Amino acid sequence: MTRFSGYRLLGCPTCQTVHAVANAVSFNLMSFETWTDGQRLHSLMDYREGVRQCSSCEHVFLEREAKFMGNARTRWRNDDEPYEIPAFLLRPANEPTWTWQSVRDKLSALTGWVMRGGLPAPSTVADNAGTAAAPADVPFQYPELYQVRESDLASLVAKPADYSEPLMLAIRALYWRYLNDPYRDTARRLIEKGRDPAVAFTASELQIENMRALLVLLVKHRPEDVLIRAELHRELGEFTAAIDLMNDLVSEHEEANAIREAARHKISAPTLIKYAWQSSSKTF
Ligand SMILES: [Zn+2]
Repeated sequence: MTRFSGYRLLGCPTCQTVHAVANAVSFNLMSFETWTDGQRLHSLMDYREGVRQCSSCEHVFLEREAKFMGNARTRWRNDDEPYEIPAFLLRPANEPTWTWQSVRDKLSALTGWVMRGGLPAPSTVADNAGTAAAPADVPFQYPELYQVRESDLASLVAKPADYSEPLMLAIRALYWRYLNDPYRDTARRLIEKGRDPAVAFTASELQIENMRALLVLLVKHRPEDVLIRAELHRELGEFTAAIDLMNDLVSEHEEANAIREAARHKISAPTLIKYAWQSSSKTF
């Protein structure tokens, strides 16, 4: 399983809002479907190319472009404190200014804490029941970073000057998979009917333009990503370029085999990868 332990506190590069990001201590990349373009369905761990969005100013950035502010054991400042019954609940009978109303207010504030997943530390709860307003019951919470929405990818791609090239590379990779998704739907239906899905794939002008731009960015920033480069060449119909790139690759992983096989058969469609652990009955 994918497991997490503790959080890194990352500041938005634009507005400095601090977010908590769970530390993965073990990964499981297993998913129900994995495609040659890297798209996964029902994945247990989807990194989304590290593209994140600030919960406050909505600025889009790479997780590694965020400002590291430290570590936290929990997202709530006090939620790992041992819980104690606040003094004001033990004392009302002796309070000269005690009222039922004040106790009820305090209890409802306490319920609010609990319902939101945090328990108050004694130090943050006022113990002057009956005289003061409700205790400060707003716990310090670190928001989570947003994932960028699929529907926002087109507008992000349209503004390359606003973003760093490594970020644009990540956005275009997500956009590539997103634009392939309609084909995936068609492919599943054809496979169900026992037909060859690959004939249904034709890259649109938009897809071609995005794949070409992505290739340029990959060659410049991640030339070692041979598999993805080969896959892009293949989906562009440049089968010789795809095979030539993979000649230098010693990998015999299922991903490499699937891309190589499809290129040899001059198939440009994204292809489902069959892993050894997947029985033939439950895969396409
Ligand atoms: Zn921000």
